[in-house]
Parts: sequence; C-alpha cells; structure tokens
Amino acid sequence: MKNKKLIVVKVGTNVMTNKDNRIVRPVLKNLVKQIAELYERDIQTILVSSGSVIAGKEVLGNSVIKDKTKRRQVYSSIGQPRMMRLYYNIFRDYGMKCAQVLPTKRDFNPGVHRDNMINCIEGLLQEGVVPITNEDDAVSLEMSMFSDNDELATLIAELMNASKMILLTDIDGLYDGNPDKEHTKLISDVEPKENLSKYISDSNKSEGEGRGGMGSKLNHAQLAAKKNITTYIANGKNKNVIVDIIDGKQVGTKVSL
Ligand code: GLU
Repeated sequence: MKNKKLIVVKVGTNVMTNKDNRIVRPVLKNLVKQIAELYERDIQTILVSSGSVIAGKEVLGNSVIKDKTKRRQVYSSIGQPRMMRLYYNIFRDYGMKCAQVLPTKRDFNPGVHRDNMINCIEGLLQEGVVPITNEDDAVSLEMSMFSDNDELATLIAELMNASKMILLTDIDGLYDGNPDKEHTKLISDVEPKENLSKYISDSNKSEGEGRGGMGSKLNHAQLAAKKNITTYIANGKNKNVIVDIIDGKQVGTKVSL
C-alpha cells in the first residue's frame, strides 16, 4: 500500500434528503465522486454515513409499531442494506469498492472489539476499499449508543489517526446568529477552547431522523482539535465541498488548535 493520508467524512441524514424526506441520489454521487478524486491524489476516506432510518422508512412506509425505539431498530435494519446498495453501485461507477463497519459505542472501549475494528478498517484501507461506518442502530440502544454520528466520526478519526474530519450538514457552517436572518455572518475559524454556546440556538439543532446538530458538531470538533485532528463543518450539498476543503479553500467553519 502506498502511504496515503487519511480523512474522515461524516454525512448526516439532512444532507442526503430533500424536504419530502426522500434520499437524493445525486448528493451521494457528488460525495463519492469527490472521495474517488481524493483517492487518486493519495488521500483515503473513511465515510461515516447516516441514512439507515430514513432509507428504511422509504421502503416500509408507515409502521404498525408503536414503540419508538423498536420502530427505529426496524427502520434502520431495513434501511442500512439499502444505503449500502446505493453506495456500492455509486462507488462501482467510479471504479471503487466500499465496505460496511457498524460499531456501537461499546466497541470503542479498550479490548478485543476495538482491536478487531482497527484491524478490519486498516485491512480495508490496505485493499483500497472505502470503509463506510454507521452506528449499529439495530442493536445499539441506551448505554451502547453514540450521542449521534458526530460522536462516531470523532471516535473513528481518533481511532484511525486521521488528520482531518469533515462534518457535512445542510448549512454552510457556524453562524454568529440565526442563518436565516440578514447580516448573519459565517464564522470561518474556531479555537478548541472558545466558548461557542452564544452561537448555538434552537434553529441550529437538527430535525427529522438525524440526531446531532450544530452544538454537537462543535463540541466534537473541539474534542478532535485537542487530539490534533482539524475539523471542518460545511455544507454537504455544495458541489466540491470536500475537495475544496482539502485544497485549503475557505469553506465552512474550521476548528483547529
Ligand atoms: N444512525 C442514524 C441513521 O443512520 C442517524 C444518527 C445520526 O443522525 O446521528 O439513520
């Protein structure tokens, strides 16, 4: 294996869906295209992708199950293979292969599962295969649950010694107020110790099936920065967003030491 740089890209449900909560294939295609382009430039990506719950909903429609947790388990176990089929086909179109790794938070505790996960992801990278991870929503409940996939992405980035983490969402980054209002400015640089609570409002919280939100992204980005991982929070719907970040263009909000 050539010595490639490693980045982690996280894509949330809000990036890949339209207002009718349908998965928008061209968005996934745009992400994969950029991952393939970076691979040619010796930069490998671990993709952390949500979408299983919404994909399951697309297949099943309304559920007869009243219990919210059980319903989420069912939706995600229907939707996860659907997400992987979408990714499999798109990666194949770009001449690449992808694979699935579904951890729970417990798997990050020191021990055999953690070691096995490192081994597997290392092996996939050696083979030039793109690891796609998501929380194992079918079985990860209560104590073994991540707060959201921003946390999973951060733990993966630390685990695999990635140099950069890109958290893609549906707004351009952190704003100094409500992004829908006039005169609100994008904050392009943030330090790990900065107190950002004043910028986090309810309008920054995510809606629908995704968890997370701007507060969580900043919190995890600041944790990652302390471990020397530079994080970018940016709009995953923008065409060349990942490549532009890697090329050092001023995109989104950067959190670094
Ligand atoms: N793992 C969930 C899914 O695939 C989403 C979790 C999150 O948004 O953080 O739908």
